[in-house]
Amino acid sequence: MTQTIDRVRIETLVREAIRGSLKSAASASAAAGQSNAMSAFSPPGWVDGKPNLRVSISARHVHLTDEHVEVLFGAGSTLEPDKALYQDGFYAAKQTVMVVGPRRRMLPNVRVLGPTRDFSQVELALTDSISLGIDAPIRHSGHIHGSPGCVLVGPKGTVQLDQGVIRAARHVHMNFADADYYGVKNSDKMQLVVRSKECNVVFEDVLVRADEKAKLEVHIDTDEGNACNLEAASEIILRKNECNCKDH
Ligand SMILES: [Zn+2]
Repeated sequence: MTQTIDRVRIETLVREAIRGSLKSAASASAAAGQSNAMSAFSPPGWVDGKPNLRVSISARHVHLTDEHVEVLFGAGSTLEPDKALYQDGFYAAKQTVMVVGPRRRMLPNVRVLGPTRDFSQVELALTDSISLGIDAPIRHSGHIHGSPGCVLVGPKGTVQLDQGVIRAARHVHMNFADADYYGVKNSDKMQLVVRSKECNVVFEDVLVRADEKAKLEVHIDTDEGNACNLEAASEIILRKNECNCKDH
């Protein structure tokens, strides 16, 4: 097992060298012989030479365009970062909006996440969508075509969204070194096993979203987090779909 990890680390170093992240291939091979030197080139989020799995619950939230930020919070307004999220560059903003569905049902104080995007989007758990009276489809973030709309209400204005209300499909962010480690690629599906007393759950269909910089992190919604009592989990395993798994 240790040998497998070492192989992955070395492959990662080689890849970085090819991409020009290292000054020369010679320094990569020198680093490969020294564990101290290697740690300096660890992929994002890795601890002790291997991926460090994190599972986070995404509570209902809103992504906004720059234009909608100004409509909702006043001309010249921008998002004000409040808390940094685990993924570098992303944050929960100080601002919240009210999400209003048909028949005046509403969810107050829905957090805005930054940075702003090209399209505004509302991400709900199933329980939220039931209480709002909106039949939100499961979609991958950004795939909002044909989804239902809603009204967003801020302190300075109101935005009518014609589409953009979804339930975010469960997914795992990772960088390419993580993907190599697990033997998966972008758009593959994985399984997340959450062991929790009297409450074990296996989540199927965890979509791989791999890019250069992401840190290994599974995102599930509040309904999913509650179903497995994530807070009380004693063990969490991320794995390839069993049917494809060479280890079995
Ligand atoms: Zn995510």
